[in-house]
Amino acid sequence: MADKKFFRCNVCNDIHHGMNGPEICPTCQNKNVYVEIDKEEAVKVMEI
Ligand SMILES: [Zn+2]
Repeated sequence: MADKKFFRCNVCNDIHHGMNGPEICPTCQNKNVYVEIDKEEAVKVMEI
């Protein structure tokens, strides 16, 4: 079973759920801006 992680874009706060953060953010088009966050932080960001 794959252990997926949460990543957040440092620029636009987009949340990605998967094995790796996207190289380029699909929302703000910036490169290498995703940082790994824990599930609790992801839930907090998504609730806003
Ligand atoms: Zn972004």
